[in-house]
Amino acid sequence: DKGLAVFTSGGDAQGMNAAVRAVVRVGLYLGCKVYFIREGYQGMVDGGEHIVEANWSSVSCIIHKGGTIIGSARCMDFKKREGRLKAAQNLIEKGINNLVVIGGDGSLTGADLFRQEWGSLLDELLKDGRISKEGFEKNKNLKIVGLVGSIDNDFCGTDMTIGTDSALHRIIEAIDAIVSTAYSHQRTFIMEVMGRHCGYLAIVVGLAAEADYVFIPEEPVENDWETKICEKLQLERASGQRLNIIIVSEGAIDRNGQPITAEQVKNVVEKNLHQDTRITVLGHVQRGGSPSAFDRVLGSRMGAEAVMALMEADDSAEPCVISLDGNQAVRLPLMECVKQTKEVAKAMEEKKWDRAVELRGKS
Ligand code: ADP
Repeated sequence: DKGLAVFTSGGDAQGMNAAVRAVVRVGLYLGCKVYFIREGYQGMVDGGEHIVEANWSSVSCIIHKGGTIIGSARCMDFKKREGRLKAAQNLIEKGINNLVVIGGDGSLTGADLFRQEWGSLLDELLKDGRISKEGFEKNKNLKIVGLVGSIDNDFCGTDMTIGTDSALHRIIEAIDAIVSTAYSHQRTFIMEVMGRHCGYLAIVVGLAAEADYVFIPEEPVENDWETKICEKLQLERASGQRLNIIIVSEGAIDRNGQPITAEQVKNVVEKNLHQDTRITVLGHVQRGGSPSAFDRVLGSRMGAEAVMALMEADDSAEPCVISLDGNQAVRLPLMECVKQTKEVAKAMEEKKWDRAVELRGKS
């Protein structure tokens, strides 16, 4: 039997369960012994009851659930070599040398480091008598495949990350609800949405929910933004519109790199237009609730492809990440995608916004 484990790490995202389910079932179908690792890298380091064998029915009735049923955590121990030694020991004890990691760029970076170190970790464990010679021989190569779970759609290499589409649904539901009350009272609503460095959620809901103005990190506003937004809102009201919707991405900034906050926008609108203005910060609602059909299918396809990639990989294969390109699931070199994603974040920090968009566009 081939030992295969799946875990979810970093921020949760709707659709992760579909991926876990597909990994387990395709793994079993292809004759693997499949394990869950609970609570991400922390479970791998702690071992024991955190690493449990999965069967066909252990993933029944999870595809419709949000979050991740096997838990996710941030783990400081795994960032230290001693933590990774413990993690390797726990995997060897169960005969696991195939891993599917579902997480963001941090989790995938950790996975790549783990694989690079695997040989030296095993040498040290053998020398210290912490693993058997047989365990050492049987598990000399670690194979890793990554899947990206993130509601922000902020990963280079894939058209969509698992969870983004569901987050869009959550935001649009909320805006639709706000619109009816805003209409009644002729109010202006400012909605703050998630996304960190990435304005994808804001720009897509801006389009889908008919927003009047959208603030995103990739296109910092000019100094005259206050005048521009007031003119735009006034124009809409003059044409008969009874409400205004403004979307502020959580990473929105001005040309000096200073944050644009919902509070700031509210003050501008109230001071200049005297409109009844309210703020709604959607927060963690965006991460919750059931996954959309798209995310269930995306998670399922990616999970299945991940197991096939592991089974087809030879011992020296570099880790890959399963991505969506057009409507195809493709395998891309994991570290190149992570590197490019980090370059985007760096370009944003250095205020090279066009460069960031160009780098993202290339993916
Ligand atoms: P995400 O995967 O969503 O980007 P984090 O960046 O918080 O989230 O990473 C999740 C976990 O992955 C961390 O808590 C840590 O255990 C592991 N990790 C992240 N970066 C590294 C690294 N450079 N080396 C080892 N482990 C890492």
